[in-house]
Amino acid sequence: MRYYSTNKIAPWADLQKAVVKGLAEDRGLYMPEHIKPLPKEFFENIDNLSFQEIAYTVADAFFGEDVEAEALKNIVYDTLAFDCPIVKVEDNIYSLELFHGPTLAFKDVGARFMARLLQYFIRKENKEQVNVLVATSGDTGSAVANGFLGVDGIHVYVLYPKGKVSKIQECQFTTLGKNITAIEIDGVFDDCQALVKTAFMDKELNSQLKLTSANSINVARFLPQSFYYFYAYAQAVRSLKASGKNADIVMCVPSGNFGNICSALFGKRMGLPIKRFIAANNANDIFYNYLKTGEYVPRASQQTIANAMDVGDPSNFARIYDLYNGNHADICEQISGATYTDEQIAQSMQQCFNTTKYILDPHGACGYQALKESLQDGEIGIFCETAHPAKFKDTVENIIKTEVEIPERLADFMKGEKQSVLMPNDFNTFKDFLLKQK
Ligand SMILES: *Cc1c(COP(=O)(O)O)cnc(C)c1O
Repeated sequence: MRYYSTNKIAPWADLQKAVVKGLAEDRGLYMPEHIKPLPKEFFENIDNLSFQEIAYTVADAFFGEDVEAEALKNIVYDTLAFDCPIVKVEDNIYSLELFHGPTLAFKDVGARFMARLLQYFIRKENKEQVNVLVATSGDTGSAVANGFLGVDGIHVYVLYPKGKVSKIQECQFTTLGKNITAIEIDGVFDDCQALVKTAFMDKELNSQLKLTSANSINVARFLPQSFYYFYAYAQAVRSLKASGKNADIVMCVPSGNFGNICSALFGKRMGLPIKRFIAANNANDIFYNYLKTGEYVPRASQQTIANAMDVGDPSNFARIYDLYNGNHADICEQISGATYTDEQIAQSMQQCFNTTKYILDPHGACGYQALKESLQDGEIGIFCETAHPAKFKDTVENIIKTEVEIPERLADFMKGEKQSVLMPNDFNTFKDFLLKQK
């Protein structure tokens, strides 16, 4: 399969190039040339298939031309070593729990898949070691580091701002050891990002080391997210059949950079019978305003309690726009929007907990609330619970006035010993360090 850039200037790329480069030369996002519809029989039988079986069928449609069947199967099965169950929260509303992976957030799925696909390419070409550089303000670092943990042939360097990430987040990428090196920069997140960007442009460094990024716009992180939408549909069908009901399914995705909802839209293009989608925003309502006005006006992000969605210029808007050929009416027909202030998010978490005992995290709360406000007769809604509430323990406990239990795998991270390299915010120091690791 070939990949084109949403900016339409850069040349076509094959899968390997799209994965290793991440972003096209014209700074556009890669899109697959074809989105292959899956056969009717697949959907008719989907409720009899396992998560891995479903995911492999979807993966084959995207990657089957470029990766041998057996290898792709191993990558998919190994990636999905945990479940993504739908859980009934109340009548007609289900939570798609995407937090059962190693770092308790949905980004685990994409990060694990990308790590294994990159390893496949390295092995195939007997390539030298690949070095992944990632700057993080918290969550990306942990998902990427854990996704690549123990994957041969790849070393990950996570740069993070000293004293500016939460303890829970920090221990998820500083206690791992093995092929993961955490570098604590005496600066802010933007400094970390600038160091990584400078490294990718440094000729000497790139001639000596193979460097790659693993950011969320990478097709190998983005496309695999569609797996769990098919699986959620399969579970909903099973549940509807068991209760003898019939309903249309609405999918609601708490969105920041819009990668997650975009993979759901790809699913629909492949034939997944979802009636409509809702993109739930926090106060960063750029997409919401686009739906209302047809104008896309990015602006500086605003801090909220659903901070993984604090994005003022969502990268994947370019993919959604491309998917619908820039047709505003078509986009509005598929997707509606919602936006919530911190106060509304907190209210929603409280209300849900008081009436159902289900504990939402601040991101999932936006999704839950948007469904509550928009579901119509004959519809059931599924919202993505994108992270475990314990990841935002203090915020959640303050709101629902109840202790949130920390899952064992998160507690295990917190027992580990922090290992990090302290570094000034200086490119030459960083460069010398990388060259010495060779
Ligand atoms: C990254 C993230 C989001 C936003 O997902 P996008 O794909 O960027 O829209 C929502 N919730 C949590 C917990 C996240 O980590």
